Amino acid sequence: TQDDKWLAIDDYIVENFLEADPVLEAAQAACDAAGLPAIQVAPLQGKLLMMLARALQARKILEVGTLGGYSTIWLARGLAEGGHVTTLELDPRHAEIAQANFENAGLGDKITVRVGPALDSMAALHTEGAGPFDLIFIDADKPSTPDYFDWAVKLARPGSFIVVDNVVREGAILAAQSDNKHVKGLRAFYARAAADPRVTATAFQTVGHKGHDGLAIVQVTQAPSD
Ligand code: SAM
Repeated sequence: TQDDKWLAIDDYIVENFLEADPVLEAAQAACDAAGLPAIQVAPLQGKLLMMLARALQARKILEVGTLGGYSTIWLARGLAEGGHVTTLELDPRHAEIAQANFENAGLGDKITVRVGPALDSMAALHTEGAGPFDLIFIDADKPSTPDYFDWAVKLARPGSFIVVDNVVREGAILAAQSDNKHVKGLRAFYARAAADPRVTATAFQTVGHKGHDGLAIVQVTQAPSD
């Protein structure tokens, strides 16, 4: 079937482009042992985040939705010398597991976890003048994605990238009349990004062991005004 073919191709790409990775394997094992849901990015997508960070020579990275810190470790690996990742997480237990993973990965001094609702943390980062962030990865509760996107633009600079995960959801996003709050949130994100003159956006579908989904990549082109 088509699905078997997608899985075989996913495996083929992994075999070619990913090496054994004891640090991330240990982090994932700790997440599994703690009973966290396996909703982290796929390894090949984590690597894309690292490569984007490198291409941007990112010194400041912001992540919305930490879970156990799997994607955060990939992002931190892409930081420029002296750079820092700030990652936002609602659930203190997730944050605690992530923090232990960062320390075990030797990345404790490069990553700060902020616990609380991400909308509050983003507002606080803006007030503190913590930005601009070179790369912002949005991967938390989907209904708030349009609001995270608005804050992300405010916390960015021209040239920054905003990456949004799970923007396809096996095609569920096509349902214009859907009452599903995740679908509504993502459709509102597409509409907002499309209408925002300060950004240019693309998205691509992904298939493989994590099913059929997609990533949006948004580039900020104009300075946000407050
Ligand atoms: N980025 C992670 C990775 O790839 O390894 C996965 C993140 S997981 C999909 C989403 C996370 O967002 C969960 O840990 C959840 O607790 C967190 N979350 C949900 N609502 C949130 C909110 N309002 N503010 C901050 N984090 C939230």
